[in-house]
Amino acid sequence: MAMIEFRNVQKYYGKFHALKNINLKIDKGETVVLIGPSGSGKSTLVRTINGLEDIQEGHLIVNGEDLTDKKTDINQIRTDVGMVFQHFNLYANKDVLENVMIAPRIVLKKSEDENRKTALQLLERVGLSDKAHNMPSQISGGQEQRVAIARSLAMKPKCMLFDEPTSALDPEMIEDVLDVIKQITEQSDMTSIIVTHKMWFAQEVANRVIFLDDGQIIEDRKTNEFFEHP
Ligand code: ADP
Ligand code: ADP
Repeated sequence: MAMIEFRNVQKYYGKFHALKNINLKIDKGETVVLIGPSGSGKSTLVRTINGLEDIQEGHLIVNGEDLTDKKTDINQIRTDVGMVFQHFNLYANKDVLENVMIAPRIVLKKSEDENRKTALQLLERVGLSDKAHNMPSQISGGQEQRVAIARSLAMKPKCMLFDEPTSALDPEMIEDVLDVIKQITEQSDMTSIIVTHKMWFAQEVANRVIFLDDGQIIEDRKTNEFFEHP
């Protein structure tokens, strides 16, 4: 079953046509890398999937729910679909562990013990067990981004969106973050969409590569085919 389906989707910013007749089906468990020049609509496309941007025409179905249907609960969609941005937006006055625990406590109403246990496991998974009680200002940008990833995963999303997760990072931190994303996508049955310019990552981690240009899907291929016929 498709996790995400775009049917004839059109997105406008005012008169500017940002997504042009997008048709796209992404199945459960797929890892898709989205590439394309700056301004081609990559960020817009991923942001429509959790309703951060609305669409003007067509249908967008996420986990069986049509986002254009007024009855669809957007908060449920945002629980099912986690998002990691270029900038991490951690709570600056809360330590790393608390950053990971806040949303599950409030939204999922998890018990404190269970929440803490899961959060600590997630911090271990992203290689930050020893930073649980550091403040965001005391860790590197790459570490902050890994906290942001753990924080998203704590909501047990069915799907993760990564919008240029390494483009605000110093070069020496990029690989650590991509390695964490690689490990997460390999070790779970989540659906992931990753906007990145890192071709080694696309080649190693994605099962499918989509190339966007000027708001249109120009290529949509299995990874091995994509790299055979660039
Ligand atoms: P990419 O992620 O591929 O760099 P974006 O999705 O950020 O592309 O942007 C696609 C196009 O839409 C660009 O021309 C950008 O300037 C325009 N755009 C993005 N956000 C807005 C907005 N909020 N209002 C108007 N135009 C926007
Ligand atoms: P990115 O680093 O993803 O390329 P941008 O600099 O394109 O980010 O956009 C940053 C913010 O500005 C986004 O929220 C985007 O929606 C908005 N934006 C981008 N282009 C425009 C535009 N032409 N008019 C208004 N807002 C825009």
